[in-house]
Amino acid sequence: MSAPDDRAADSNKCIFRVIARFDAPVTQRLLLPARVYLPQRRVERVRRLEKAFQKMRIVLLGAPGSGKGTQGEKLVAHFGIPKISTGDALRAAVAAGTELGKKAKAAMDAGQLVANEIVIGIVEERLGQPDAQKGFILDGFPRNTAQAEVLDAMLVRLGQPAIGKAVHLAVTDEEIIKRLLDRAVKEGRADDKEDVIRHRIKVYNDETHPLLDYYEQQGKLMTVQGVGTLDDIFDRILGVLK
Ligand code: AMP
Repeated sequence: MSAPDDRAADSNKCIFRVIARFDAPVTQRLLLPARVYLPQRRVERVRRLEKAFQKMRIVLLGAPGSGKGTQGEKLVAHFGIPKISTGDALRAAVAAGTELGKKAKAAMDAGQLVANEIVIGIVEERLGQPDAQKGFILDGFPRNTAQAEVLDAMLVRLGQPAIGKAVHLAVTDEEIIKRLLDRAVKEGRADDKEDVIRHRIKVYNDETHPLLDYYEQQGKLMTVQGVGTLDDIFDRILGVLK
């Protein structure tokens, strides 16, 4: 990005964070009363960003190791909305030794999907919380078509707008294996062993990959090349979220 682009992105980021924090439309609550002091084009800009924010119910799609977690964190910092990672929630439950963690552990260690009811319960509970009302980033959910359909119905039930965009981070299988073996050395995750990694990629291709069609048919799929520097990938993501 050039310097003026950087400045524009930084100032959008500040405005997004204000939008995320207010429960009423910012243009109505903050800006209109202050209109005498603010040029109309500024008000219009905030209104535009606020409109863009209505799409901020984002699903991150991509194989394990495609960068969903890392890019998801960057989106959290940029838009001020929470990231909901079923993988993180399940690992926390396993570490805490809860009933849910005990039920999930064997499937996770084998690189298989945990039962739908378990992950759906986690997501429903989290989406009902106040900080998720203005938008959220889903990382690792949905993982199959059944979960995607339940998610759509859940948002209706919770009175929330539908998923705005599904961002697919495209990375080749060879690159994925390389990254995950590297992560195994750095983080020591139980499911980052080569045979389990290969199985997780197979599960992704068999069960999660069909979701690309699911969101494509709804006109929501945005594919981004998931290789390059973290900042370059993030700029591509911001580009498709405009
Ligand atoms: P992740 O950190 O997203 O790669 O998830 C790690 C593991 O948690 C997966 O290999 C699955 O065993 C389990 N998991 C995470 N999210 C889901 C989901 N949406 N459905 C089923 N299992 C999941």
